[in-house]
Amino acid sequence: KVIKCKAAVLWEANKPFSIEEVEVAPPKEHEVRIKIMATGICRSDDHVITGALVMPFPIILGHEAAGVVESVGQGVTSVKPACTLLECAFRQFQDHLLLLPVAFAILKLKEKGKKFLSLILSYCKCKINCSLLVGKFTKFSPLLSTGWSTVNEVAPLEKVCLIGCGFSTGYGAALQTAKVEPGSTCAIFGLGGVGLSVIIGCKVAGASRIIAVDINSNKFAKAKELGATDCVNPKDFKKPIQEVLMEMTGGGVDYSFEVIGRTDTMTAALACCHYNYGVSVIVGVPPAAQKITFDPMLLFTGRSWKGSVFGGWKSKDAVPKLVADYMKKTFVLDPLITHTLHWTKINEGFDLLRTGK
Ligand code: NAD
Ligand code: ZN
Repeated sequence: KVIKCKAAVLWEANKPFSIEEVEVAPPKEHEVRIKIMATGICRSDDHVITGALVMPFPIILGHEAAGVVESVGQGVTSVKPACTLLECAFRQFQDHLLLLPVAFAILKLKEKGKKFLSLILSYCKCKINCSLLVGKFTKFSPLLSTGWSTVNEVAPLEKVCLIGCGFSTGYGAALQTAKVEPGSTCAIFGLGGVGLSVIIGCKVAGASRIIAVDINSNKFAKAKELGATDCVNPKDFKKPIQEVLMEMTGGGVDYSFEVIGRTDTMTAALACCHYNYGVSVIVGVPPAAQKITFDPMLLFTGRSWKGSVFGGWKSKDAVPKLVADYMKKTFVLDPLITHTLHWTKINEGFDLLRTGK
């Protein structure tokens, strides 16, 4: 049966969400319908709101969710109703990691004005066959039956939902993409949920010096709690931050991470690496249509510049393992949770994100 439920709909850029009734169709072949139990807010959602990440409107955002299977479509054998699932921003189809940052829902407007919407699954015909556009700021959501991750049922869903994007992205950027080595020095630009997760990853990897960089000094206490050894606010210096870091480390860091989504900090992060063996990882989403101009000498001498999406993990295999590691207390998630709100307070949640809280 069609389920009618509420969803937070964004009708146009730079406007608040409005809570609307949507219809979620019964799952078709190879689809499941999930009841969303908890969802995180990620800056990437806000990039869609501001237009920095271009998506079609109207849209239901949200891409790190934990939920329970409500019903399954024909041909689905791997899960059954009541199974717990973790929905990931970047899913693994067959053996590929889905590279398109499109884990968002498209709403098909049926009767504009009556605010009657039908939540539909959309498949884009990209090379790896399918991508799924599904929003999680809603009570029920359809999901393609491949590419999900089943979760140990005892895991607290309101915490492990962060493994669906923010945590895994930062943690994997350190462990998988950069492959941080014990005893190394790391610099992390941007201390939101993702940047703090990079710090957790650097610490687990055994980095001996972890330099946290942010223009909001209120972020430093938590960065230290998670393992940062030094905290630097670029606003406290007249000279460029890369020069400050070069001096602090006597020649540059081994690994740097840009976890903001700005082109100037992407080049600053590259420049603060050791000229010969430094590795810099772009984690922040680059603003749409912006280009970077940089001195190629920065790369010529031996630095490497990399990008990282969803921490380089293959979600289907990695997410259950990350959940198990969380349950074994390999890492913590609590410090990443600053507020817990009912999902209908979504606009308040985004205000908290935008004001750095
Ligand atoms: P956030 O907004 O919570 O954190 C960003 C931090 O950067 C804030 O603490 C802010 O004060 C700081 N900052 C802003 N401008 C700065 C500057 N000029 N210098 C130093 N610090 C500055 O964001 P988040 O949710 O942690 O996400 C971080 C970035 O990662 C976003 O761009 C997001 O879209 C992106 N992201 C990428 C992936 C991926 O797969 N690569 C996944 C999730 C999020
Ligand atoms: Zn995200």
